[in-house]
Amino acid sequence: EPERVEVVVVGAGISGLQAARLLRGKYSVKVLEARERVGGRLQNHFFANGDSVDVGGQWVGPGQDRMYRLIGELGAAIWPLYDRGDNLLYLAGKSRRYRGTIPKINPIALADLGLAMARFESMARSLDPAAPWLHKKALHWDSMTLDSWLQKNCRTKLARQLFAVGIGAVFAAEPAELSLLHALFYARSGNSLETLLAVTGGAQQDRVHGGTAGLCEAMARDLGERVRCNAPVESVTELPGGSLQVRYRQGVIICNRVIVAVPPNQALRIRFEPELPAWRDKLLQRMPAGSCIKCVARYEKPFWRDSNLSGQVASPQGPVRVTFDNSEQGKASGLLMGFLEGDVARYYSNVSPSERREAVLDCFARYFGETARNPLEYVDKDWSSEGWTRGCYAALFAPGTWTGGGARLREANGRIHWAGTEFAVEWFGYMEGALEAAERVAAEVDAVLNGTTGHHDFNKPEAHHV
Ligand code: FAD
Repeated sequence: EPERVEVVVVGAGISGLQAARLLRGKYSVKVLEARERVGGRLQNHFFANGDSVDVGGQWVGPGQDRMYRLIGELGAAIWPLYDRGDNLLYLAGKSRRYRGTIPKINPIALADLGLAMARFESMARSLDPAAPWLHKKALHWDSMTLDSWLQKNCRTKLARQLFAVGIGAVFAAEPAELSLLHALFYARSGNSLETLLAVTGGAQQDRVHGGTAGLCEAMARDLGERVRCNAPVESVTELPGGSLQVRYRQGVIICNRVIVAVPPNQALRIRFEPELPAWRDKLLQRMPAGSCIKCVARYEKPFWRDSNLSGQVASPQGPVRVTFDNSEQGKASGLLMGFLEGDVARYYSNVSPSERREAVLDCFARYFGETARNPLEYVDKDWSSEGWTRGCYAALFAPGTWTGGGARLREANGRIHWAGTEFAVEWFGYMEGALEAAERVAAEVDAVLNGTTGHHDFNKPEAHHV
């Protein structure tokens, strides 16, 4: 007799786990996770001294109400990212100090950059994040990349380069990889580009003690035996009568509804019988993941703070184009974190670990002095090489995707429902978006399984067609 439950969730990332938590009071639920751990794009690395660091997603910031609520519910604690002292702009072999999000550059480039950002923000503000394809200029904006727009709207090379540094940090991609419409939607989805770039008051404000992966572990403990790890889902087959048979490595489960909560590129690796409609498959094919290698060096202490430096660098030159002080409050160690993104990440994905480490530490030494060259420990994580994820932070929409099929993105396919951060309206790409998508999908599944009699509060579920 095969196992039977009402709902199977594929993927124990923060989205799948939250969907299961919202449904489990009313329905029998099973979460099948491919890896031996939960958390997906959230992961802790443990250093030799026992300290840990997030090598996946790490920050929460104002406006991410679901995340702060979850952190409170699970009894986790936060601390603000170290954001004092001067930031550095590293340009043509020289560093200059600045404060805030926009570096001090020559007045012409500065005005150029300011104007381009203001234009971008005002375009983003005019979009409805729930339906970017409905904007009167949607087709036009979706016909070009962010790079084509920048070429026209940013006259100086320096302003374009700095804009690209910001885009790299926010999207883990080059401006040429993104539809302008998607970039505008993404900024609007997380309030504004300024919010996404900012530390204090923005998306890089707070960290979670025990790591964001710790939140997922607590969610999984809460779900108990409903979560099964080492259980990659291979196929979803519709049986006569409409039930779904989910085949995973060790067995099968029969269920009424499936929630797919995996990155879009991974959803394509699951076999659906009958096949998904062409529009769904095409849409998933047009949602490739960004490219990022997250690099962290551990030192005895955060020595850069003694020179009144924040640990934040912007450098068009790179290869590490942005850095942050990732030290955990209350711990003695100093942690410097740097991102390799877009083209640079793809390049450094193909060199030896020691060459990569040397290139990163060479950057750290240029920015913060020779002490940075010799950390106690170094770790990096290339998410594009990682099975079950294959890129981050999230999927990027190429030109034509939003207007070509985006209107049906969140639609269920029969009894198959979609979650994960890529299916969010608010904070698409972020943990907050993953939670939002979980709420929407839980409400959607509840509505079809139980009509409107549900006595569950899904925190303002949005109305969506099923
Ligand atoms: P995932 O975490 O990808 O979960 C999907 C799960 O499905 C995984 O556990 C995977 O193993 C599993 N899976 C895949 N295929 C199968 C299968 N066939 N069968 C069973 N299971 C399967 N967000 C922020 O909010 N703040 C940040 O600072 C931030 N920085 C980031 C930095 C990095 C380096 C990365 C990688 C991400 C970052 N993000 C950040 C993004 C954030 O991590 C994601 O938005 C979020 O974790 C996505 O959650 P999810 O549940 O939608 O997907």
